[in-house]
Amino acid sequence: MKKRMIVAANWKMNKNLSEAIEFLEKLNFHIDENDSQSSVIIFPPFIGLESLAGKFNSNNFYLGSQNFYYEESGAFTGEVSISMLEHIGIDYAIIGHSERRSLFYENDNLINKKIRSCLASSINPILCIGESLEQRDSSLTENTLKNQLKSGLKNIDALKLDKLMIAYEPIWAIGTGKTATVDQIYSTHQQIKGILNELFNDESHDLPILYGGSVNDKNAKEIGMIDNVNGFLIGGASLKIETFCEIIDLCNFN
Ligand code: PEP
Repeated sequence: MKKRMIVAANWKMNKNLSEAIEFLEKLNFHIDENDSQSSVIIFPPFIGLESLAGKFNSNNFYLGSQNFYYEESGAFTGEVSISMLEHIGIDYAIIGHSERRSLFYENDNLINKKIRSCLASSINPILCIGESLEQRDSSLTENTLKNQLKSGLKNIDALKLDKLMIAYEPIWAIGTGKTATVDQIYSTHQQIKGILNELFNDESHDLPILYGGSVNDKNAKEIGMIDNVNGFLIGGASLKIETFCEIIDLCNFN
């Protein structure tokens, strides 16, 4: 099977600056020693972004921001704008992560504003969507994802779609050690493709869909082999350099 995976590391609120730099040094050593076929994106906390920018020993390794605010500048205490991220050479941004939706009350309207401002910039958005366990158990998964995609991608120019990635992250699988089964992942990714096709009249067929939810070095190979999985968004297992490098190596499907 030939495919090029996207391996994204969401560090969340972990690693101070020294720890981030130490991780980068070890990652660079691994890059030099091994030939990775995947695209790798590291999402450190804000404080690590500038120090890591432009320091990867591979053109296939990118830096992303876990968050930003959609306004250009002004009285928005505590926020960072997309142009500030562009200025230091950030390539990607996560939008709509379930932790931001639940802990920081980000709603679909705000998520849509973030997606639109990100698409208008040089930064590529990764839109996270996913259902709760209650929604899955009540057969509401497809409906939930449809609503999240419809509102998150409202008024998006289909011509900008090639900048976008979707991360399917069932909430019940994030940080819980519970992974969705191969069948669940395959069929839900197919549903997402169907919804995107409906929304964008078939212009979305190449849009990468990542899976996120307790991916680790034990399950990465099996999940990565699923036909319609284009990569991973990884939280916990991306924090340990050895485990993360192992996952990168397992994703060489060429
Ligand atoms: C995440 O936060 O996006 C995530 C998938 O976390 P974990 O891998 O720890 O489940």
